[in-house]
Amino acid sequence: MKVLVINAGSSSLKYQLIDMDNENVIAKGNCERIGLDGFIGHKTADGREVEKEMDFPTHKEAFMAVVEVLTTGEGKVIDDVKEISAVGHRVLHGSEVYKTSTLVTDKVIEDIFSFRELGPLHNPPQATAMKACQEVFGKDTPMVAVFDTSFHQTMPPKAYMFGIPYEYYEKYSIRRYGFHGTSHRYVSQRYFEITGKDPKGTKIITCHLGNGSSLAAIQDGKVVDTSMGLTPLDGFIMGTRCGGIDPSVVTYIMNKENLTPDEMSNLMNKKSGFLGLSGISNDCRDIQKAASEGNARAQLTVDMFVYQIRKFIGSYAAAMGGVDALLFTGGIGENSQDIRYDICSDFEYLGLKANKELCMNANRKEVNFAEKDSKVEAWVIPTNEELMIAKDTVALLK
Ligand code: AMP
Repeated sequence: MKVLVINAGSSSLKYQLIDMDNENVIAKGNCERIGLDGFIGHKTADGREVEKEMDFPTHKEAFMAVVEVLTTGEGKVIDDVKEISAVGHRVLHGSEVYKTSTLVTDKVIEDIFSFRELGPLHNPPQATAMKACQEVFGKDTPMVAVFDTSFHQTMPPKAYMFGIPYEYYEKYSIRRYGFHGTSHRYVSQRYFEITGKDPKGTKIITCHLGNGSSLAAIQDGKVVDTSMGLTPLDGFIMGTRCGGIDPSVVTYIMNKENLTPDEMSNLMNKKSGFLGLSGISNDCRDIQKAASEGNARAQLTVDMFVYQIRKFIGSYAAAMGGVDALLFTGGIGENSQDIRYDICSDFEYLGLKANKELCMNANRKEVNFAEKDSKVEAWVIPTNEELMIAKDTVALLK
């Protein structure tokens, strides 16, 4: 069975065609500059590449281009679009309504659009993309929505409520939702698959560290707390986001600099984190390089990132009454051995003894880099959100 996985943005449409009989990617690509002009980059598993400029006034033309490159020309991998059994869509926000993935109906698309205030940059284009997909593939092709928030819906109120007047939860659904749920779910399930451990009675902390980063505390296979909040801004410093800060900082800067709410939001989402602190880049590789060359602000940025993550790990271990394994994933978690090792150092009091050599050689592999006699495991598990979306799609079709 072949499943097309879609990750739509306001001006882009990423796709992967996955053969679910063997879980291999058949082809993948990205339609860019939707609404401006249009460009598609397409790669097949056997190494063929197509890159061409096209006209994408809307997401519909982008979907038509995806069908075209999959079925014709240099990048052709299937004879007929009917070979695609179903489409799985990544969706940012499912509010409190969608606690699991779901088959897409008109009502589901309406709901996704109606959560636009919770996910203003993502939910509207994702709803638009689903409608466009229906038009191109026809309503007979089943579609599934997989929400970034749904895995975190098991959190208890004491973890998801904020200490503000209760009426704002009732009026506006203001609470902690958490994001990267598909990634946290994939790596935690993979950990249980690899180790054969029973989720029941197991306490793990998943660390998705990339341009956006979040941690999740998972007990008995269920999320009990996570670092991102109402939006993906909360937690610790990221590429361009500030993470959790004293809320007074927000009103103080707005008053001093005469900023509107949108301008302040832009400052916290786009100009802070690694970029704002270092003044160099939002990219962890650039920051680490500058730090190694003696740049003090770059070093401060790395130190803050590691320190803030260690504080979250400590607090989640305290909240769960212990921890059995830390799982690292995402661009930084999978590739930066130094950051991984620094996070795990001096955690002997928690029962974790990291092995430096194993950690240095664990990049992009599924490896436990803790010492043999360490009570707590420390794993690298590369994430695969697209496969998780495709698996949910197949499961819902069955
Ligand atoms: P993601 O958002 O998961 O794609 O991750 C992007 C982040 O991973 C960026 O900050 C990259 O700098 C970082 N990254 C990728 N490769 C490496 C590497 N070899 N060392 C350190 N960071 C890396």
